[in-house]
This record gives sequence, C-alpha cells and structure tokens, in this order.
Amino acid sequence: MSIRTLHLLGSPVLREPSPDVAGVTDDVRHLVDDLFDTMRAAQGVGLAANQVGIARRIAVVDVGDDDPIVLINPVITDRVGQDRAEEGCLSIPELYGDVDRARQVTVETTTLDGTRVTVTAEQLKARAIQHEVDHLDGVLFIDRLSPLKRKLLLAKWKKLRKGETGYLKEVVPAPVED
Ligand SMILES: [Zn+2]
Repeated sequence: MSIRTLHLLGSPVLREPSPDVAGVTDDVRHLVDDLFDTMRAAQGVGLAANQVGIARRIAVVDVGDDDPIVLINPVITDRVGQDRAEEGCLSIPELYGDVDRARQVTVETTTLDGTRVTVTAEQLKARAIQHEVDHLDGVLFIDRLSPLKRKLLLAKWKKLRKGETGYLKEVVPAPVED
C-alpha cells in the first residue's frame, strides 16, 4: 500500500491533457493500486493519475457501492439526462460548487487485465466518472461553474493558500474507527 502526494490547483500537470497508456503493464497496475489507496485515505470518491503528478490517462472511482471502477484510456460514449449537484475535488480542498453533469453516462474503458469494456453508470457514479475524465482532459470542476462563482471560489482559494508554497499535499489517512 502506498499513498501518493496530491497535486493541488496551481500544479501544471492538472492542466495538461494526459496521454493514453500503451498497455496494462505492472507499472499501470501498481499505479492503479496507489490511486485507490490515496483516494480512500483522502476520503474521496475518485482520483485521476495527474492528481498524483502522473500524466497518464488513468483514474479510479469508488462511490462506496462495492463496484469500484478502474478507468484506463476512458472514453465517454454516451450521456443521458442532466443533473445539478455540489462537487468538490481532492486537488481543490475545501471548495465546493454546483456542477451540471449528465445523469447517466456510458464509458468505454480498459480493465486491469487489458480487456476493453463498456460500463454504464448513473447519478453519483456517473458524476464521478465525468469529473475524473475531465481531469484527464486537464479540466477542473471550477471550469464548469458560472464565471462569478468561479471568481468567488478562486478568491477563497487564494486566501486559503496564503503563505503556502508549492502545490503538493501529503495525504494523512483518517483514523480507523472501530
Ligand atoms: Zn477532482
């Protein structure tokens, strides 16, 4: 198990479209494991590779429904309906905004054994998939807010980040309750 360091808003890798991976190597499987570990430690529902500083088209989603999704070279092939709900992002902690997303999506993705599959998801899971695929395109949820709301959040971000240097954040796992 290995928890990686998160890249926060301001880190250039979050703004670059991530290139496809050529194949599912041990390297890719290792990275996927680390993405799940890091996402869970940070209590998120999704995490993209560029959020840990790696520009590769890989992400994970786990909304707690016992069916976590690995996204490798994902392509959203269908979007149905529309929903508005509040979103946040592990790379922009403490900021939230209402984002319009398709209510249901179909995504084509490669599994860890290298097979190309099609997955359909709705509601929170569909939202998480769209959020992660956006990351792989260099897009953040704040880009999907109204210009005014975005401006307000960026001002808040500036305030929160006052005195901080760099754009990295170590993830400290929440204590396990029993
Ligand atoms: Zn995010």
